[in-house]
Amino acid sequence: MTSLNNNTKINGAKNKFSEIKLKARAVARGVAIGKVVCLHGRKRQFYRINLEESQIEKELRRFKAAIRLAKRQLKKISTTDSNNSKLSVFDAHLLILEDRSLQDKIEKNIVSQKINAEWAVKVVTERYIATYKAIADEHLREKYIDLEDVADRILAALGGGGKTNLRLEKNSIIVAREVKPSTLIELTDSNPKAIITENGGWTSHTFILAREINLPAVTGMKGILRRVQTGDEVIVDGFNGHVIVNPSKESTEKYKIAAAQFQEFTHRETEPIDEKLKTLDGFEIKIRANIDLPRGYMRAKQLGAKGIGLYRSEFLFNQFKGFPTEQEQLKEYRNIAKLAGEDGVRIRTFDLSAEQLTEENARKEINPALGLRAIRLVLTHKKEFSTQIRALLQASFENKIDIVLPMISDVSEILETKKLIETEKARLRKRKINFGNPRLGAMIEVPAAVLIADEIAHEVDFFCLGTNDLVQYLLAVDRDNETVADWFRTLHPAVLRSIKTILRAAEQNNIQAVICGEMAGSPVYVAILIGLGATELSMNVNSISRVRRIISHIAYEEAKEITDALLKLPTADAVENSVREKFLAKWSHLFSADILPQRKLQI
Ligand code: PEP
Ligand code: MG
Repeated sequence: MTSLNNNTKINGAKNKFSEIKLKARAVARGVAIGKVVCLHGRKRQFYRINLEESQIEKELRRFKAAIRLAKRQLKKISTTDSNNSKLSVFDAHLLILEDRSLQDKIEKNIVSQKINAEWAVKVVTERYIATYKAIADEHLREKYIDLEDVADRILAALGGGGKTNLRLEKNSIIVAREVKPSTLIELTDSNPKAIITENGGWTSHTFILAREINLPAVTGMKGILRRVQTGDEVIVDGFNGHVIVNPSKESTEKYKIAAAQFQEFTHRETEPIDEKLKTLDGFEIKIRANIDLPRGYMRAKQLGAKGIGLYRSEFLFNQFKGFPTEQEQLKEYRNIAKLAGEDGVRIRTFDLSAEQLTEENARKEINPALGLRAIRLVLTHKKEFSTQIRALLQASFENKIDIVLPMISDVSEILETKKLIETEKARLRKRKINFGNPRLGAMIEVPAAVLIADEIAHEVDFFCLGTNDLVQYLLAVDRDNETVADWFRTLHPAVLRSIKTILRAAEQNNIQAVICGEMAGSPVYVAILIGLGATELSMNVNSISRVRRIISHIAYEEAKEITDALLKLPTADAVENSVREKFLAKWSHLFSADILPQRKLQI
């Protein structure tokens, strides 16, 4: 995080009255002015809430219920985990949890400070943890780790009791190390104005979601939680990656205009667009929408989207705080299919990682992106997978639904899924329940799938090209880790050549291929995708207008000529330089001189 002026105090100390300008990485467009709300917590995110006297009794009951839930969980694990002779780590956690003085202190804090249980847990356990960390004896000192685990467990349990009360004040700007997609979904009801985080990349789900709901966001702000506190005034410029803490009168006035323009733009009514989208030389390009929150589809349709190219069903897991039942899923899938109508929806089966399922898994999954995730997870949780397949089969009766399988790396995963689909069809038939015959597609997003694209094409009806994961896995660079964001090179030759291979395999095997990663919503990348031969793009609703404009102003033949040359270049730098040079030479009316800037939003 770089400071832009001299007002920044050394060691992160804050002067309440001076303006501090900070540089960040822009990941969702827009400008907002508001008040900081600091989010804490890992698995379960929370912030300080000041309670009314009348809310305290209820808060104490909520805390006690969470303690009971946490104890039940620990007892269950310690019986399965115990090796009889030794006290397991979970027994040790249980002892801490049963310690009356810890509970008393937390309860006292809730009452005397009039604060929510989460905040009281944080304050009290942090005090204990600091004391343990100061002990000279190494064995005793390490007990702080157990305390951290117990605190996490109580916090998770506090969020585990159905709908919680995460409600933000008006004009809140969320500040956090990182914001989980589930937290953001929960917070959207109270209409936050922007997000500032330390960590996360432009393809992180949280920021994909932020762009979907027009929530300005910036990331890469190391140490931000030490520099601001809840209640501070702050401005977020999600176009240029600027954050201004304690803004001066002049800055506030200047940004007020920009923020108002942004609000006006996001609410602007548009004339429905119905004509086909074609390049200047007449090649038709189909635009679909990536929809995580169904309410966004009507706007996407208005802007010319023809159906939903990607519906991430795992968002239901966040919404229902666990696997939704067959009936719950059926209702959601029918709902989204009705919205999409004749243009259809591609529903991706749960792309979850094991660490999202339980606390215990979270400890085991050292590298979740390479762990028990997506298709692997559902094939090891067949009961839940069968439930989802049954819901999808029923929902596709008289509705246009396709099924997409995430993270395919081997044909056997598709064959196993097909078998499951047949089994579930037979069951439904026997029970005389109507079902449809959804087409089956595979996400092509890991390098192995690129290399066996032909074999996969023989087994599926279409490809969904997941460029977010494709870049992550091809370049071995974590898409959620800001520290390595400069290595996330979307225009790396390996990425471009892989996309070409996939599109060619689809064409030769006569199946459809839709690009549905974030690349498909970026004007610069879109011109390259068209040149590589893409004919279907599925994107964030808020990218549609910009992308339509590019497509209708370029010729496929021109784009192809440029990308054919790009494919021969040896490095990402060479590709990016060539893109800058050629795009500006050919399409200066479409792209500005700062095309592909270092830390500016590219989408
Ligand atoms: C992708 O990987 O590009 C993709 C579309 O899926 P997700 O972002 O959900 O991983
Ligand atoms: Mg993916």
